[in-house]
Amino acid sequence: VEPPSTPFTQVRERYAELVELITKYRAAYYNDDAPLVSDAEFDVLYSELEQLEALHPELVTNDSPTQVVGGDVSVAFAAVDHLARMYSLEDVFSLEELEAWLLKAAASVEKQHGTPPKWLTELKIDGLAVNLLYRDGVLVRAATRGDGTTGEDITHNVATIKDIPQRLHGSGFPSEVEIRGEVFIASKDFTALNEQMVAAGKAPYANPRNTAAGSLRQKDPAETAKRPLRMYVHGIGAREGLETATQSETYAQLKDWGMPTSPYFKVLDTLAEVLEFIAHYGEHRHDLIHEIDGIVVKVDDLATQRALGNTSRVPRWSVAYKYPPEEVHTKLLDIRVNV
Ligand code: NAD
Repeated sequence: VEPPSTPFTQVRERYAELVELITKYRAAYYNDDAPLVSDAEFDVLYSELEQLEALHPELVTNDSPTQVVGGDVSVAFAAVDHLARMYSLEDVFSLEELEAWLLKAAASVEKQHGTPPKWLTELKIDGLAVNLLYRDGVLVRAATRGDGTTGEDITHNVATIKDIPQRLHGSGFPSEVEIRGEVFIASKDFTALNEQMVAAGKAPYANPRNTAAGSLRQKDPAETAKRPLRMYVHGIGAREGLETATQSETYAQLKDWGMPTSPYFKVLDTLAEVLEFIAHYGEHRHDLIHEIDGIVVKVDDLATQRALGNTSRVPRWSVAYKYPPEEVHTKLLDIRVNV
């Protein structure tokens, strides 16, 4: 990042360059499911933009990549408005930054409520967010996140995913609830899929995340049905008649109704426990069902979540810690993204 003494015209030029690059990379990633650079390279540019904006707040416009949720709505799908907005997550890249974030949030919660928050600590699944609308227990619509306000209608494609019930099981359903989660391809299924591709003389897929995203955004649901897509729930949007007090309690209720919840999350009391969780999954990230790119820490209490609220891009009650990028060793040189 330029020191404050850098001539302003140079700063503006670098700023414009970063916005242009990030916008281009986002379009390739979200709209074409075919990234042009690695996530780590993208994150470096994005951090540079954030730092430049911190030094020069006068440069920030409402449509800056730091102010909006990335992703458009492709013309291949009908556009649908989410009942409640969908957000991205604030990222931190070091344990020091994470500690500072958690201590600040805990202090603010303790000041307002007299007790520090409990932390719902989850894995950051490397997949694609979906928003499922259930009315009286029946799945009526499924959409991608899109720009957070408007997503793509992928109801027919989601109907092919066995993890996602068309009807909730049991009784006592809310009249309306938006259930959010991540669609992903399990690591072992991804390996098997690529073995099939190679055996058929085709190019293998580059990675599970973009393959899951591309598979879910097929025009023909019969194509989606051929891909081994799975889902874990990680949030709730609009709700009418769902009376739970914490996010973890909500997960337990959703699990009872047959929704796929993650086996990995924990509710923790202290920062030390959160750090232990991070260290544990840092060591065991390749022993999991799916790929992860970090850990998400959330305030578990829903009333406190509402009190903390959101910025235009991210919730103020949640943070994502990203593990340092790993060196990827692959035998498949010159991989072509194939979706
Ligand atoms: P994000 O992926 O960092 O975080 C928000 C998303 O995390 C949510 O929308 C949700 O889908 C997902 N998520 C997974 N597990 C979750 C959990 N347990 N709880 C809540 N949410 C969970 O944010 P983003 O704005 O969607 O994208 C930024 C990410 O995408 C970065 O990792 C960046 O590297 C990558 N990206 C890469 C490129 C590229 O060109 N390679 C371009 C754009 C974005």
